[in-house]
Amino acid sequence: MRDGAVRLVIFRHVRRSSISDSTKVFAPEEEQDYGDEPTKVRETDKYVSEYVRGFVDKWDELIDWEQRAESEGRFFIDVLKARGKHSVLDVATGTGFHSVQLLKAGFDVHSADGSAEMLAKAFDNGMRHDVVLKTAHADWRWLNKNVHGKFDAIICLGNSFTHLFDEDDRRRALAEFYAALKHDGILIIDQRNYDSIMDDGFSSKHQFYYCGEQVTAEPVHIDDGLARFEYRFPDGSTHNLNMFPLRRNYLRGLLSDAGFRKIHTYGDFQEEAEESSPDFFIHVAEKNYE
Ligand code: SAM
Repeated sequence: MRDGAVRLVIFRHVRRSSISDSTKVFAPEEEQDYGDEPTKVRETDKYVSEYVRGFVDKWDELIDWEQRAESEGRFFIDVLKARGKHSVLDVATGTGFHSVQLLKAGFDVHSADGSAEMLAKAFDNGMRHDVVLKTAHADWRWLNKNVHGKFDAIICLGNSFTHLFDEDDRRRALAEFYAALKHDGILIIDQRNYDSIMDDGFSSKHQFYYCGEQVTAEPVHIDDGLARFEYRFPDGSTHNLNMFPLRRNYLRGLLSDAGFRKIHTYGDFQEEAEESSPDFFIHVAEKNYE
């Protein structure tokens, strides 16, 4: 918040020093570990150890900031400005792409994430782009414990919500987002088009989100409770993410249950009618009736 109520943590200075062993927030390993049966790993808490340093360091190759900025254009800026929103909490900061874009566009941005590994990278990326990110380490399920204040808008982008495996966790996270918004606040949340993957099989225009030309991102296992993706990098290395395959209407229903009164869904940054089988959906959920 502008009044400085948000607890800020500059992770560059705490990296590997003041974090107790019992609260694992960094994942300094190079390799991921899913045990003997990777498709059995279906836990909300797993995300912290999925984003190992070896993967985080490559994440920007996967998303390619320049290409992504070009493909998204002014979409999020226009959605926020059209509704007169200024203070933004990025709850899934990752390596900082949207936080940096919005800071540069003049928004008052706070950047949270449950992975300290990701936040440290985001802070460094901010410095490279001449902005200082105001970071807070926070898991969505306990967001308001670590992030204080009310925001005009919350963004949860890059298919992040898919990391929650239990419905209780999804409802809990949305309730926390709702509580962190002002009375007329908005939540912008996106998701991969899992409906099309589950109903028709995987295909991708490779045009949005994961724009890196040399990197492939494809599912290696899909069932009703798991979408396991593999990310293959030019150096031959691979990393995975185990995610819950959210269906479009299911997520819209959860948003509505959480109290959001108006939900508008876009497909690949277009009105849905203009894009029949988008790779991603973006929901703009508003607290207000009007
Ligand atoms: N928004 C970024 C982007 O578009 O590049 C990052 C997307 S990445 C797929 C998902 C991010 O969500 C990761 O940084 C991860 O740490 C964060 N995340 C996943 N589950 C979380 C949770 N329960 N609480 C807080 N952050 C979480």
